[in-house]
Amino acid sequence: MKNIAVVGAGTMGNGIAHIFAQSGFKVVLTDIAEPMLEKALANIEQNLTRQVAKGVLEEEGKLQALANLTTTTSLEKATAQAHIVIEAASENFDIKAQIFKQLDQICPPETILATNTSSISITKIAAVTQRPDKVIGMHFFNPVPVMKLVEVINGYATSAETTQTVLELSAKVGKIATSVNDYPGFVANRVLMPMINEAIYALYEGVGGVEEIDTVMKLGMAHPMGPLQLADFVGLDICLNILRVLHEGLGNPKYAPCPLLVNMVEAGHKGIKTGMGFYDYSLGGKNLVVAARFKKA
Ligand code: NAD
Repeated sequence: MKNIAVVGAGTMGNGIAHIFAQSGFKVVLTDIAEPMLEKALANIEQNLTRQVAKGVLEEEGKLQALANLTTTTSLEKATAQAHIVIEAASENFDIKAQIFKQLDQICPPETILATNTSSISITKIAAVTQRPDKVIGMHFFNPVPVMKLVEVINGYATSAETTQTVLELSAKVGKIATSVNDYPGFVANRVLMPMINEAIYALYEGVGGVEEIDTVMKLGMAHPMGPLQLADFVGLDICLNILRVLHEGLGNPKYAPCPLLVNMVEAGHKGIKTGMGFYDYSLGGKNLVVAARFKKA
């Protein structure tokens, strides 16, 4: 397995293309938006340069990684030679269904089709293709070059052979892969999102303030970041979407999103990306500043 195609050149797609190119694979990165491809290439080059400056990569390794990487806006050209396609396009079922239908027509029957989705059913995506045994979840974490884990998700029809190939492939790019089954939220978000939701409920009910809740979890549980800060980092809209997937998919009221989270998303306070969440990022300082509305009187 030498040729990889990555579909979608946003936050995750460019990280995935980076690690495969650096590990000696021939990578074609594709996106519908040319500017996203240009931005991704610039970003990958910058990250490789940083690795060289840190002494974790030779200059030669950086040049080789860049030589291994090409981009195109044509899905057909990107995937024609691919042994595996890793899809990291926007988190929307209709977009992914359209891409997988096309991939199923373009790619040779033996090509594995993987998706980096955080919350959409692998089984449902696989069902739009004629090769559900070769469709699998490959859930990387942000930032991809740094985070060690790949959550490999087996759809209802994924074959054991496909799983084994993807586990081995993950190891070849220096990741540690775990194999889990396709139910709402998989394992990572099934466990993480209820914890974040509970932290928001604790704030909503006045059990503790933003700093108190995050401090308890950081110092008491040795988490590198408190759950409210982590929610801001992930994006409060993404957290809300995943909680809704858990709530609807598992039918248990314990997953119901906290009304405070719903309000914050509706108000456009989505965390770091909008400059405001549980913390205020608008001043861009080094220290975390609790958002004005959560400050104690
Ligand atoms: P993003 O918005 O940064 O990038 C998505 C890219 O997909 C954009 O560049 C967009 O132009 C492109 N795109 C949209 N439709 C396309 C199409 N039909 N063909 C090709 N490209 C298309 O999104 P992201 O944060 O990189 O997330 C991508 C996927 O990874 C999602 O499924 C998301 O759930 C998952 N994911 C995200 C994170 C994260 O922390 N951001 C973590 C794990 C998994």
